[in-house]
Amino acid sequence: MAIILSGGAILTVNGADDFLPAADIRVEGGIISAIGAAGSLARPGDTLIDCSEALIAPGLVNVHTHAATAFYRGMAEDRPREFWSAGYAMPGQERFTVEDHVFSVRAACAEFLLNGVTCIADRLGNMDRIAPAIEQSGIRAVVGHSLVDARAPADWKTAHAVLERFGTDPRRRVFAGIAPHALDTCSDALLKECARQGERTGARVFLHVAQNEPEVAVVRRRGHDGALACLIQAGLATPNTVAAHAIYLSDAEFEAWPTYGIAIAHCPASNLKIEARTLPLARLVGRVPIGLGTDWTASNNSMDMLVEARLAALVGKMRADDPQALPVRQMVRMLTIDGARVLGLDGLIGSIEAGKRADIVVFDANRLETTPAHDPMANLIYSMGPRSVRDVLVDGQILVRKGQLTRDDEAALARRHRTHGRAPS
Ligand SMILES: [Zn+2]
Repeated sequence: MAIILSGGAILTVNGADDFLPAADIRVEGGIISAIGAAGSLARPGDTLIDCSEALIAPGLVNVHTHAATAFYRGMAEDRPREFWSAGYAMPGQERFTVEDHVFSVRAACAEFLLNGVTCIADRLGNMDRIAPAIEQSGIRAVVGHSLVDARAPADWKTAHAVLERFGTDPRRRVFAGIAPHALDTCSDALLKECARQGERTGARVFLHVAQNEPEVAVVRRRGHDGALACLIQAGLATPNTVAAHAIYLSDAEFEAWPTYGIAIAHCPASNLKIEARTLPLARLVGRVPIGLGTDWTASNNSMDMLVEARLAALVGKMRADDPQALPVRQMVRMLTIDGARVLGLDGLIGSIEAGKRADIVVFDANRLETTPAHDPMANLIYSMGPRSVRDVLVDGQILVRKGQLTRDDEAALARRHRTHGRAPS
């Protein structure tokens, strides 16, 4: 049985950025099987969803998340840089159990979906326990178990278990990557081993890079001339690597970065909150794959990708000293097809085209923040928010309908999540 999204205005984000003012999308077997004139694709027995007052876009791709820490929200505000760089741990977090974190994954994935996010790149410890909860939510994900030297043998055991269970084939809705933590918490030997395992298994390698000054200082003490040199030496300076943050690179490193094609997960809210700093986005965009990430809730504290895009654009304009930098069209691509490219998924998702997996977000065009629609892309980047999200499909499954989760109860999740992270009384 097919689902017909009927009569919507469609931001296709295809190669020509075609905008279709009123069209049908036919979803069948998890894929977009056809796009046609409004009212032309429905057959008897199809599920018809009226989108005549809707703006339809590809699902938003969040390229850097830590779903299991969703309940850390509000635990650290207005702290100095040293608070974070000491290990990105919240005081007292050792009292949290794996079960607490696994429940938080369920809440986080629900929140991602309600924000129009259909795909995440998620990483943390205990990924063997976390990833099944991500899979159950229905969201698309690449998952990686965090590796650090301090736990190396045990970590590899878990990382391999995750790789074995989920595989590295991006056509699976949930598949595995390799996730060394960062350049300072991983030795050169561990980073090299990650590069080797990435080549052996076909997995992408995800890591934090140049997130703070002490990290770069550690890398320099190991004899490297900065973070990029460390990646090159480890064999990780390739398009198969996704570097989160990359905010403490030198001018020369930013200049050389595109030569290597290393993808970037840009997390402006997290970077600004922790380091009061971002990368020079306008210098890199178009030269290297860049997607947007919300990072963890301790440092963001939101999962609103539209805010992330707005911040990226506005702060990026300021850094470039150019109001024409980072136009809305580019930001819409960063939220969708470019994010997919970062994860190696641009052949499967990231645009609304026949043959692609049906990861789609339907925004309510009948709300004040979506009107008037002089420029639908500008509305999406600069005025809309999660309140505008009406329906969300992942792999052809309807996971949000009329602003409500179809597989979970938001109020019940929130009730339980509210007590998470509370200090024992
Ligand atoms: Zn992170």
